[in-house]
Amino acid sequence: MNILERYHAMDYAPAPEARSEADAWLGARDFSKSLFIAGDWRAGIDGKSFDTEDPSTGKLLAKVSDASAADIETAVAAARKVLPKWSATSGYERAKVLYAIGRAMQRHQRLFAVLESLDNGKPIRESRDIDVPLAIRHFIHHAGWAQSLASEFPGRKAAGVVGQIIPWNFPLLMLAWKIAPALATGCTVVLKPAEFTPLTAILFAEICERAGVPKGVVNIVQGGPEAGAAIVNHPGIDKIAFTGSSEVGKIIRKATAGSGKKLSLELGGKSAFIVFEDADLDSAVEGLVDGIWFNQGQVCCAGSRLLVQESVAEAFIAKVKTRMSRLRVGSPLDKNTDIGPLVDKTQLDRVKRLVEEGARQGAVCWQPDQDVPATGYYHLPTLATGVAPANILAQEEVFGPVLATMSFRNTEEAVELANNTRYGLAASVWSENVNLALHVAPQLKAGVVWVNGTNMFDAACGFGGYRESGFGREGGREGLEEYLAPSEPHGPVIKQASAPKAAARDNGESHGIDRTAKLFISGKQVRPDGNYSLPVLTSKGRLAGEIGLGSRKDIRDAVSAARACKAWPEATAYNRSQVLYYLAENLSGRTEEFAARIVELTGASHKAAKAEVEASIERLFYYAGMADKFEGRVHQPPARTVTLALHEPVGVIGIVAPDEAPLLGLISLIAPALAMGNTTVVVPSTTAPLVATDLYQVIEYSDVPAGAINIVTGHTAELAAVLAKHDDVDGLWVVAEADICARAEAESTGNLKRVWTGHGRSLDWPTAQGEAFLRRAVEVKNVWVPYGD
Ligand code: NAD
Repeated sequence: MNILERYHAMDYAPAPEARSEADAWLGARDFSKSLFIAGDWRAGIDGKSFDTEDPSTGKLLAKVSDASAADIETAVAAARKVLPKWSATSGYERAKVLYAIGRAMQRHQRLFAVLESLDNGKPIRESRDIDVPLAIRHFIHHAGWAQSLASEFPGRKAAGVVGQIIPWNFPLLMLAWKIAPALATGCTVVLKPAEFTPLTAILFAEICERAGVPKGVVNIVQGGPEAGAAIVNHPGIDKIAFTGSSEVGKIIRKATAGSGKKLSLELGGKSAFIVFEDADLDSAVEGLVDGIWFNQGQVCCAGSRLLVQESVAEAFIAKVKTRMSRLRVGSPLDKNTDIGPLVDKTQLDRVKRLVEEGARQGAVCWQPDQDVPATGYYHLPTLATGVAPANILAQEEVFGPVLATMSFRNTEEAVELANNTRYGLAASVWSENVNLALHVAPQLKAGVVWVNGTNMFDAACGFGGYRESGFGREGGREGLEEYLAPSEPHGPVIKQASAPKAAARDNGESHGIDRTAKLFISGKQVRPDGNYSLPVLTSKGRLAGEIGLGSRKDIRDAVSAARACKAWPEATAYNRSQVLYYLAENLSGRTEEFAARIVELTGASHKAAKAEVEASIERLFYYAGMADKFEGRVHQPPARTVTLALHEPVGVIGIVAPDEAPLLGLISLIAPALAMGNTTVVVPSTTAPLVATDLYQVIEYSDVPAGAINIVTGHTAELAAVLAKHDDVDGLWVVAEADICARAEAESTGNLKRVWTGHGRSLDWPTAQGEAFLRRAVEVKNVWVPYGD
């Protein structure tokens, strides 16, 4: 045997990580009291428990207390009791606590890693080198935020008591992503880990005891969906932060509708891994291994759809297969293991079912010729080729070690395929041409894009999705926003408007002169589909005119027009700024006319009406000026990358404007949306809609591209509901009565659009301007660009 033959013949010897410390911890701990509430260890009030097992053997690790609704009640009460004190604690004191947590975790790093691998099944290399260090970094990073909060977010307050629900795939890391920003901002916490992986959260609670976290600030309750639902529905909770499946995310969106709770959802994904022909194919293969087989593919942002350019597809797939054959499937505690077991039998069964269904739908599913260990929930890495875009493996989140492969011919096709999913969490772009990569990244509908890399995370960089991958960001500055109380200036409660009488008659042809204001869609004044109109009365009850009664069909047309308008989102910020200035200029030329209209419809004094018009012009000026100033940031995480946190438009935004301040309210909502490049479908005030319809001409004269502003008049409640249900609307802002707001939230679950409402209150329009509005008009996309050879 020569040296080369000997080299190839060598096999890996077992390299097990020691588990004695973890076993000692498991043996010594009293799991019959594993709820951490108000700083005490408690059993569940109704004495129930559930098992957590080692997925590599199926053996019981512990019987953990199962929290009932009564336990959640106690935990929320504890969190609420301490909230005033904790949120008033100085930033420096809170920083010391966060730092102490990070340091204490560092001292128990090995124990955390082994416990995580035992409970979840993830290879020890991953828990040791990725999960635990990143979790620690999160606490230490947020210590700095706690201390600088007052200067970085002046005037902002903690959101309050937060309910946090996390999944099993990164138990400790998800806990850190949730708890660190909450403590930094002065919130108190009731956190529920997933029922498959309760252990590291228990160890973390022990750390909190030692790190001086005041009693009741962090409460950790264990249990499954029922305990989760009890948190979601508890009226004493001000904010829900959820990470988990899109299915449960939608349930939570519905359950919290109308409650006034702040909500962030980090949900599933079906992320594209795009390999261009000029990529370094060997590096891309290594990236792919990390992209889809990290944590057995049980990763929300797993690169589960490989899109490879046709010219290199065959060669690339051959390399992938070779590499797959070398992946080592085995014990999570072996340091050589690449692929451990899935977390539970139910998860294994689900993955198998999806692979079978994918094959039935025409995919060719290939696995390396390897044995899996005799016990445990193992699934071999799987490569599906011949996958049609509609195949279940291309559309559904498998959450397992299964890669669906498709090829593309050119850049446009790559982008189209990548965006052909209802999710929008992450994407990976591989090309040695940085110009191409940075050309593609902004076109991808995903919250995170990695260039020549994958699964890079850092506490300083926001993480989160578009579309059905949820809303809100975790990490960095934007992550802190999620834990701060809203900062819009509230106005009075909006009372139920008395509905104007419907005039269900032909559209005014018989009057000789048609005084009916039409709808404004795609830059044109159009009759409503049903050809019905509504009377508009003056403040004295006389007929002021008529407006078109917009219907579901008109909203659909308006949304299509808004979606088709590419000129506005693609315009430069400077360009948008100029158009908004021009709008302001043209409005100012008609100040008296608009003031007279406001007087006529609202009964306001001439002075007040004129002041409203002038404030509207000033507001347009402000947002014209901000169009090219509310920009993203550049982060410099510890890895050798720059991370570009880009501000992108949300997309098509539905806007339901209030009755009061019919012009200023409308402009205050439209202008920030437009400034950031969104296109809009606007439902104006019901009582003074002629103020909006008078704007048509101003818009027409101001070089606003067709489709950027669409206005549909009619019944607010009805049109708001149509916008909420429309799956091609990306965002919806509603200032209306409480029930209209609640309905908009509840009915937005189809595509999980970003809904912001005043919760039945108006805003203080004279002061309703600033960053809060601009922030809502953008999605932050983090593009990671590595450097160095
Ligand atoms: P899951 O939605 O089933 O469960 C997540 C958590 O919600 C668990 O703690 C569970 O007990 C709880 N829960 C279940 N039903 C509930 C209900 N009706 N009300 C309240 N809580 C309820 O998800 P999972 O299977 O544990 O985790 C996998 C999912 O998490 C995947 O879809 C994955 O993509 C997603 N995930 C997303 C991110 C992200 O940052 N976007 C990160 C990790 C995981």
